Order: sequence, then structure tokens, then C-alpha cells
Amino acid sequence: DAAHVDAVVIGAGAAGLFCAAQASARGATVLLIDHASAVAEKVRISGGGRANFTNQWLDVRAPHKHFVGDNPAFCRSALSRFTPQDFIALVDAHGIAHHEKHKGQLFCDHSAQDLIDMLLALCGRGPGQVSRWQPCRVTAVQALNASRTETSSSTSIPPSSSSSERETADTGIHPARYRVTTERGSVLATSVVVATGGLSIPKIGASDFGLRLAQQFGLRVLPTRPGLVPLTFDAQDWAPFVPLAGVALPVRISTVPAPASDAAPATNPAASAQAGTRPGKAGQDGKGAAAKRAGPVSFDEDLLFTHRGLSGPAVLQISSYWQPGTPLTLNLLPEVDLADELLRAKASSRKRVANELARWLPARLADAWCARDPVWQRAIDQVPDKALQQLAASLQRWQLTPSGTEGYRKAEVTLGGVDTRELSQQTLEAKSRPGLFFIGEVVDITGWLGGYNFQWAWASAHACAQALPLA
Ligand code: FAD
Repeated sequence: DAAHVDAVVIGAGAAGLFCAAQASARGATVLLIDHASAVAEKVRISGGGRANFTNQWLDVRAPHKHFVGDNPAFCRSALSRFTPQDFIALVDAHGIAHHEKHKGQLFCDHSAQDLIDMLLALCGRGPGQVSRWQPCRVTAVQALNASRTETSSSTSIPPSSSSSERETADTGIHPARYRVTTERGSVLATSVVVATGGLSIPKIGASDFGLRLAQQFGLRVLPTRPGLVPLTFDAQDWAPFVPLAGVALPVRISTVPAPASDAAPATNPAASAQAGTRPGKAGQDGKGAAAKRAGPVSFDEDLLFTHRGLSGPAVLQISSYWQPGTPLTLNLLPEVDLADELLRAKASSRKRVANELARWLPARLADAWCARDPVWQRAIDQVPDKALQQLAASLQRWQLTPSGTEGYRKAEVTLGGVDTRELSQQTLEAKSRPGLFFIGEVVDITGWLGGYNFQWAWASAHACAQALPLA
């Protein structure tokens, strides 16, 4: 009959490779299967080719505050048992030079390939054994002791012989609980670890296999949508901003709607939400209930104008919290009391308003903004105070409603996924399916931009690897 391994890991990405390596370190026999020909393609392209592999600002006492999902606290157990410092120690031990770029984000100095080489080296280190089938399509995953046969819905091949009795491997004390059928043959496994990742960038191997497998085994999957993704606007609404494509500036972006008043902001509404924090609970549960429970969120980061809308770290971060149809508020000058500055400039200057604005804003943006109202095109001493206050408000309380996102083609992550209520937070094992584990991005846990997603991949893989029963 088919060979028996301790674990079949489906998906040789960040989480799958690390899980295989950690399980092997415990002596496990692991078969790693991926339908792509290369391992860890997302690691390779991440962080502009240098992989932002963790974030040392992750708060180990409350790590979930950097994560989005229906129940972000779920990730606390795994993240507190495998911290950024644990991964940094591993990277250091392999001599991979790295640096902090921005807000705790660690990148490889040289190349993300160094990280992939490290993961592969760890898989080969033993004392267990990691075999790899790649490229290889999984056609069925069958629970051997199930009362009915369950197969992956991707199968085009009928499931191999169903068994009402649990098959016992002739080696080892743990019986095989699953049969995994692939285009290279089938294998028996004590555990199956699903590490097939999210849906973004389908052209490098992303698939919904893990989500379909979860559903096949009766586990709830929360609706998915692109996260960490540029936002788009109706072409007509966006036309005045198209010439600004390429302009970047630091902003505060918020899910707090701007107040109806167009008067100069006495206080900045976005500033009342602590930058980069999520006071309330956010997430997606399909009906939007979790989103409605969410408190305001704001981020202080860079904004980038594009031909179709907005991008840059500020927009990518807020996109994971943005609910379609709702507005966002941008403060294009979060550090300046602009109304006050403009009124003071009016007393001593005869320059065009745009020239004054260019003291704080990119000149192209200042010009385009002032072109929106003839009164703003005058010399500043010719502009009524109220118009200057309105100009300041328009820049500091710019409310706009995206029409959509750039989708999975451009998204860094997938929101939603396997419902954490179905899984053990200690082990990532399905509560109702002994031996079936889900790790990494396929789970409804999504990190902020900045290395948090890889840290979740490492930590969830580690938690699972420690829990796998070995022969
Ligand atoms: P993946 O790493 O995506 O691995 C999934 C694996 O499963 C793939 O190898 C895939 O081929 C395989 N697979 C899929 N379907 C099947 C199937 N049916 N059968 C067999 N195998 C299958 N995060 C950060 O923390 N820092 C960054 O700098 C960063 N940069 C990013 C840049 C880009 C452009 C993108 C798209 C993402 C970035 N991310 C970053 C997110 C990060 O890459 C993912 O969150 C992380 O890779 C998830 O790990 P994973 O192992 O769950 O999934």
C-alpha cells in the first residue's frame, strides 16, 4: 500500500516550509507537496525582493492588535510562543544580514532568496525527513476513519478505495488518519497540514484549494476579499487627480468620516483616533457585523497617487479595514495647523496660494488642488479668510469613497479564510477533525503591512509543528 508519513504538508510557501522544517527537527517524516514548480514564490517577491520577514514592534503582550480578522485574539497563543526575536535568532544563526527599514520592519540586506535557502536548509537538517513533490497536484484528501468519504473538491479523479475502518500503518504507533491522493500517487498520513496561503497573485500559484478543503470537511470559511491593496475610484471622479500619478506624501488616513461642516478644522477629526491603532474590533464575517463593531482606525503613513486611485502604505493598511461603500478621510497635512498658517501667510505675502501651499505639499499637488476653485488661484492676500479656511479643511478633511480595490492581482494578502472558531489556537488543528491543521494565510488572520504576515506564517507553522503526533 501507499507509504505512510507523519504529516503531509500541502503548500511549500512560508508557513508550509517552516512547518516541515520544525516538524523534521522533532524527527518527523514529512511530505511537502506544492502544485507550483518553485517553492515560496511569495517570499521571493516580497518586500521588493528583500522580504520584510518580521516586525520587531510586534507587541508580544498584545500581538493581535496588529492583525485583522473576525477574532484577531486567536493569533495570540502562537505569536507569543514564537516571537519575532525567535525568528531573528534563526536568521542571525544562518548569517543572513538584515536591517530595519521603517517602524520595526526587518528586511534582508541582500535578497529574499537567502531566506528561502535558509528554509530549505532547515528542511534538510533532520533528524526527521522532508521529501518534496513539486510540481504536484493534490486530487483528493480522504479521512480514513470517516463514516463517509470526503475528497477535495478539486478532484477530477474518483477517490481511491474508501475505508470504513481506520487504516493502521505498519510502522509507528500513530495510525494513518488521511489518504492524500496526488498525480504522483497516494500517501497515508497521520496528519495533513494545509498551508496553501491566500488568493492574491494567482499567476504565481495562489489557489482556493485550502478553503475548499476546509469546506469539504465541514469547516466554516469566512468570506474572502483582497487586503493590503490599492483603492480605486470612478474614472470620472478621479479625472482631476490623474495628472498627480506618482506624487507621494506622508498623510493620516482614517475610517472616521469627516464632519459635515466645511469650516476650518478646529480640531483634526482623524487625530482623535490614535494613529496606527485599532481601538475596536474589526473584521469580516460576511454580514458586516464585525465591521460595524469596529472602532475608528487610522494610520500615519505615506500616500501615493496612481492613475486609477490611491496606493502607498497608508492606503494598503487602511484597505484591510475599509468596508465597500464607506468613506475614508485623509489629512494631507497631519502635522500642520493649515488654516492658521494660511491666515498668517496672507498677512505678509502676495504669492499665489499654490506657491504658499508648496511649502508643505508637493508642488504638483498644490497646483492641482488650487485649480479646483478659482478663488484659490489668486494671490493669497486676495483670498477671503473663509476661502482659506475652506481650502485648509479640504486638504485636512478630504473625505472620499473608493469605488473598489485593485483586486487579488495587486493585493498582498487575503482577508477572511478558515474561521478561527473551527481551530485550536494552541495547535491550529481543526477541532472537529483530528489530524487536520490549517496554518498561515489560509486562516482568517491577516496582519498589517510590515512583516506581520510572515510572522504569523512562522508562528502558526511552529505551533502546528510542535503539536504533530510523531510515529
Ligand atoms: P504562501 O507563502 O502564499 O504559500 C502557499 C503555497 O501553497 C504556495 O507555494 C502555493 O504554490 C501553494 N499552493 C497553493 N494552492 C495549492 C494547491 N492547490 N496545491 C498545492 N500547493 C498549493 N508579508 C510580509 O510579512 N512581508 C512582506 O514583505 C510581504 N510582501 C508581500 C509582497 C507581495 C507582492 C505579496 C503578494 C505578499 C506579501 N506578503 C508579505 C504576504 C506574505 O507573502 C504572505 O502572507 C505569506 O507568504 C503567507 O504564507 P503562506 O505560507 O500561508 O502562503
